[in-house]
Amino acid sequence: MTQATIVIVGDELLTGERVESNSGYIARTLGEAGIAVKRIITVGDQLEEITSAIDVGLADCQLVLLSGGLGPTSDDRTKDALCRYFAVQLEFHPQILDDIRNRFAERGMEMPQVNREQAYQPAGATLLDNPLGSARGILMVNERSGAIVSALPGVPPEMKAMLADSLLPLLKEKGLASPPPAQRELRVVGLPESGVAEMLAPLEERYASHPHFAIAYYPHQIEVLVRLKAQGLEAEKGASFLDALEEEARRLLGDHIFGGGEDDLAEVVGQMLKERKATLAVAESCSGGLLSQRITAVPGASDYYRGGVVAYSNQVKVELLGVREETLETVGAVSEEVAMQMALGAASAFSAQYALSTTGIAGPTGATAERPVGLVYIACCRREDVRAYGHIFTGGRHMVMRRTAQTALDILRLTLLHDRFPEKRKGEMT
Ligand code: ATP
Ligand code: MG
Repeated sequence: MTQATIVIVGDELLTGERVESNSGYIARTLGEAGIAVKRIITVGDQLEEITSAIDVGLADCQLVLLSGGLGPTSDDRTKDALCRYFAVQLEFHPQILDDIRNRFAERGMEMPQVNREQAYQPAGATLLDNPLGSARGILMVNERSGAIVSALPGVPPEMKAMLADSLLPLLKEKGLASPPPAQRELRVVGLPESGVAEMLAPLEERYASHPHFAIAYYPHQIEVLVRLKAQGLEAEKGASFLDALEEEARRLLGDHIFGGGEDDLAEVVGQMLKERKATLAVAESCSGGLLSQRITAVPGASDYYRGGVVAYSNQVKVELLGVREETLETVGAVSEEVAMQMALGAASAFSAQYALSTTGIAGPTGATAERPVGLVYIACCRREDVRAYGHIFTGGRHMVMRRTAQTALDILRLTLLHDRFPEKRKGEMT
């Protein structure tokens, strides 16, 4: 298996000004192509730092992949580092200069002089096209050892596009990539990591001494990713073993599984609404619009999402959603009753068959003796019927909001899946 070192370049990543996110993406993508990442090094924008990181990488890896420092400004030194490393000069490419000029011209702008710099590339390098920006990617091969050093831009969307479309095909061509390991991912909602592990204990016991069995849990705050692996088997050979593992995991976790690998809960729910030709409306208080944001982040949401309202004040709850003043006075805004009236009000105001509502205390202030921070009521309206669910979510304000939106989506998913409201689960209030 090919081993790789990732070198991340950028001063702003060392000061914490910007949270480094490229290495995780690169490591995952390389892993899927059968290239194991041995180490990740983050360095500043200095030439010496970059060259010594390449040294460390090439001491025991066949691939060093750099990200960042390819821009036209004086702090972008990655190309200089490659030149120094491979003992070559920069070469002028008139074609690249024309491309960059045209790129600016298309937007009605004149190319700034600094961008000329991007037409200079290390001699002998293979250049990778950048569909989103002006910096070219670079791939260089050490003729003696066959080791490869490649550099991609730091801007995350540019790096991602070029890694998948340009660099990986080249690495495959050069025989560095191998078939990905056999594994399958399941996304689980409505349970903490420990709860998932507890439900999957019979599976772990059954396969404990199986030579190819491995399982990993990755909690992502609002859901858990379970990875089932056929260790040591290639994708094709491991497929039937993975089928058996997945079947058992599905039997044990039931409808807590909402999808696989990259699935997003809002997308899954949207697909279900679309299939049923159903419509959805939302009335949010404590989630402040986050639920609508999750729903509309899915392309094509207009097929089923009618609209939503952030009814933050009691007055808006009354005037726009028809929540009864008397209910607000007697049980308060954070209550099952108000959640239900909000959902019914949204369904009627937006003429939707389904509606979700949220009302709660996201904190850090607003708690009372009976109502702690994190207390949230979520109601789901299904045609004329409505049901409310009470939760106490942990975490800070933003986490309570994220958990609220996620749980609301999951209540709707279960309602659509079984064509009736889900029963309250363990840990939920009645
Ligand atoms: P390029 O090679 O395309 O010129 P660069 O690193 O030279 O990239 P910068 O201007 O330093 O260009 O970075 C562009 C943007 O991308 C900045 O907002 C920067 O913080 C961000 N960025 C660069 N590297 C990373 C990274 N590893 N993780 C997250 N953000 C990054
Ligand atoms: Mg940079």
